[in-house]
Amino acid sequence: MLNKIEIYDTTLRDGTQGAGISFSLEEKIFLTHLLNELGIPYIEGGWPGSNPKDEMYFKKIREKKKKGELKGSQVFAFSSTRRKGVKTSEDFFLSKMVESKADGFCLFGKTWDRQATDALGVTLGENLNIIKESILFLKEKTKKPVFFDCEHFFDGYKSNKEYAIDVLKTALKAGADRVILCDTNGGTFSHECQDIIKELKTLSFPLHNFGFHGHNDCGMALSNSITTVREGFGHIQGTINGIGERCGNTDLVSVISNLQLKMKIQCIPSKKIKGLFSTSKKVWELTHGEGPPNQPFVGVNSFAHKGGIHVSALQKAPEFYEHINPNSIGNRRHILISELSGQSNIINTFGDRYPELKDKRKVKSILHAIQDKEKEGLSYEGADASLELFMRRVLGHNDSIMEKNYLKINDLDFGKKKMSEASLSLNFRGDKTMTVSLGVGPVDALSKALRKALTPFYPEIKNLKLTDYHVKIIDGHCGTMAKVRVSIKHQFLKNKAFTTIGMSENIIEASWQAFESAFTYFAFLKKDQSKKVSQI
Ligand SMILES: [Zn+2]
Repeated sequence: MLNKIEIYDTTLRDGTQGAGISFSLEEKIFLTHLLNELGIPYIEGGWPGSNPKDEMYFKKIREKKKKGELKGSQVFAFSSTRRKGVKTSEDFFLSKMVESKADGFCLFGKTWDRQATDALGVTLGENLNIIKESILFLKEKTKKPVFFDCEHFFDGYKSNKEYAIDVLKTALKAGADRVILCDTNGGTFSHECQDIIKELKTLSFPLHNFGFHGHNDCGMALSNSITTVREGFGHIQGTINGIGERCGNTDLVSVISNLQLKMKIQCIPSKKIKGLFSTSKKVWELTHGEGPPNQPFVGVNSFAHKGGIHVSALQKAPEFYEHINPNSIGNRRHILISELSGQSNIINTFGDRYPELKDKRKVKSILHAIQDKEKEGLSYEGADASLELFMRRVLGHNDSIMEKNYLKINDLDFGKKKMSEASLSLNFRGDKTMTVSLGVGPVDALSKALRKALTPFYPEIKNLKLTDYHVKIIDGHCGTMAKVRVSIKHQFLKNKAFTTIGMSENIIEASWQAFESAFTYFAFLKKDQSKKVSQI
């Protein structure tokens, strides 16, 4: 096993094969910078000639490299081997590879005998020639590194072992700097990977120049990657967050975290590893908006603790319920408070700011009040600001700043354009105030009316940005009479965010409650200047 592994990222190429995933040219450039900043040594940028965007991408990368940017990463171009019956010098994609002037090249070719004969329609001998000539051509024309992806290697090995080995030998003899064994269908188990590699070892292959490219159809991509590293491979391919076709590729976030933090095998510079969390988040933002909360290492729930016994034990020794320190990859611990919580969750979250929580009876009364609310369907989990306001109320604090007299929403039809108008009357700190605002919909109109009413008293409210609005049906069996839980996330200045909730059978009323709590919480923070939003 090596103590350093090459990471080859194909988020920009194989990652975009995933359903619903497409990056604009600007996004591809942005992600290239992001991966470079993370210290990824190889970035597969695209397939020159397959579309105008990828050609433009390599042009932009050349310009950036000339200016001295993107120094850390080598940006590779990807393509197939030459087409059958065409000379390498006349092959369209190979010529586009040369023209791309990328830092290196990754070619893929057929390794499964049936893929060569039935899919490509060539003899097994012709397929070997195609591989050999394509690698030789690129090596000779560019004098740069050429990697070879053995497509369907594991299925090929099971179908015709001798032929798959011939492909490996051909690629290495032609000068491939790395050969990458691909589990293209993602159907290989880790023990199969191990058995096959053990057989390859008997043939004296240079395994340190071997890589693995896995797909996750059996959920085995990460395990297979780790297995190949344990058997001596020096190169792992994958994508950030495992995005890719069908069930996705190997998730490089997990590969890097596991290898570097747990197995002490270097993948990226140590000081960069904290950037994994933010890199993952930014890639999700450009794909589906939000990643799965239980994504290993970087999920919002990866270090979230709910069970009272667990939280109590964590205080004694974090390693009882955390396999690594969440800060090491830029994530953080979350203590969830719900009907399942113990008193330790409340003390752990608020104890340092509320000395009255030293009184166990008060903690118990808060827990009981939360449980009563949850019986009604209102969950405070993930709603940090609403939870704190609720807890303060139970403790006898009064943070209320406003009282609603009435709220009326009208739909306005301006022909092609439809708008909503919110008329809001409030008692604000004893004074009656009334505002009317237009919005693109009822929630927008409501938010604007409330902001208008409060801005004279809290001009800083302009820095409070709504970043998420989420509606969940509580009792779906009631159909359109069901209660809904509205959850609203606000961001204050750069990275300070808090969430409030509201619940009602009426979505406008639920939204009102969530907005009222958000602005009340904001006022509470402003009132108590010594409290920093970052503490929340
Ligand atoms: Zn792939």
